Amino acid sequence: MSGDGGQGQISIASALEHATLTQSEIGFDYDPVAVMPETKVLKIGGQSIMDRGRTAVFPLLEEIVAAKERYPLLLCCGGGTRARHIYAVASDLELPTGLLAAMGGYVPRQNARMLQMLLAKHGGIFIIDDDFVKLPLYFQMKCIPITTGMPPFGYWEKPGEKGRIPANRTDAGVFLSAEFLGAPRAIFVKDEAGLYDDDPKKNPKAKHIPRISAADLLALDLPDLVLERVVIDYLRRARFCKELQIINGMEKGMLTRALAGEDVGTIIHA
Ligand code: ADP
Ligand code: MG
Repeated sequence: MSGDGGQGQISIASALEHATLTQSEIGFDYDPVAVMPETKVLKIGGQSIMDRGRTAVFPLLEEIVAAKERYPLLLCCGGGTRARHIYAVASDLELPTGLLAAMGGYVPRQNARMLQMLLAKHGGIFIIDDDFVKLPLYFQMKCIPITTGMPPFGYWEKPGEKGRIPANRTDAGVFLSAEFLGAPRAIFVKDEAGLYDDDPKKNPKAKHIPRISAADLLALDLPDLVLERVVIDYLRRARFCKELQIINGMEKGMLTRALAGEDVGTIIHA
């Protein structure tokens, strides 16, 4: 440790000794370790899958159980209709975004706990964010770890561009989990065959987009998206997770094909 010119500043000799950490460039080449790049990070949609109940969920679970022998799978759950309800009530009560994020976070956890019980006999295990450290053990034991897709920002949710719905919801959490683990692709299991140029539920003439870059997608400025908007923005900064695959989990065999690396559905790339 050394003192600093009588200003009473203490430092430890290191590459960041005199850094404020707020300079535009802190001078480190950022080349992180891919922690568990072989992990298949899957989002199980909330409204699109879980809320549809057994007709949507049970066939998917069969594909998941069959796949767990071949791949380390991390299941992340969306929220869906119950989350939308709490956002609506809390918005009507004029509560801030941070509270909406904290409240909305309970719903994907409910979904994760339900999936865990359904998969218990196949090694389904409910995990929280701190349990990422135990993933190697769970995978070695052929478990299927299941967690919420919601990132743990809660009250500390960042202000969005507009409105007060938390911008970082379960799609964002799934991308951030895949990026942290070093997985090159995150798979989003929803109820449409990927991205269209408009919401196919509202516009039957909407055209399917099989592959598009994040920059091109942002430039299209579509009125509605199949994924949270922040994720497209994050994708451009990805070090590892450079592809988002959105598939229709209602179509039998799609998940199995996506896990095998087939470009089914839509690929949005960095
Ligand atoms: P999740 O259940 O994973 O949260 P969402 O229900 O939030 O998924 O998002 C998927 C839905 O997004 C689809 O069911 C579809 O109706 C809607 N959607 C809106 N815009 C688009 C678009 N441009 N392309 C595809 N789907 C879209
Ligand atoms: Mg959603």
